[in-house]
Amino acid sequence: MSMHLRKNDTVEVSAGKDKGKRGRVLTVDPARNRAVVEGVGYVKRHTKPNPQKKIKGGIVERESSVHVSNLMVVCGECGKATRVGKKFLEDGSKVRVCRKCSGILDKTKA
Ligand SMILES: [Zn+2]
Repeated sequence: MSMHLRKNDTVEVSAGKDKGKRGRVLTVDPARNRAVVEGVGYVKRHTKPNPQKKIKGGIVERESSVHVSNLMVVCGECGKATRVGKKFLEDGSKVRVCRKCSGILDKTKA
């Protein structure tokens, strides 16, 4: 499966307990097909206190990664969560397009 997500994409969760939530992609891990999305997949981690390192023990909440098959890109043109299509521009560069409205998902060109 190819990676259809990029950092800073807005995505919607399509499955699991966070289904329907939207957030910004913070990091992607193409090797594992996983992404960390702002506000999605919170897990509680228990931290042991370590006085020598001045770490207070307790519960820390942070995002955990989500499998990319459970994420859909939100189109900036039509605002819908969509599957990603591909299209070649006249200059030969490849862009990602919305399957619903054919809007171009890549606004900033490298
Ligand atoms: Zn669209």
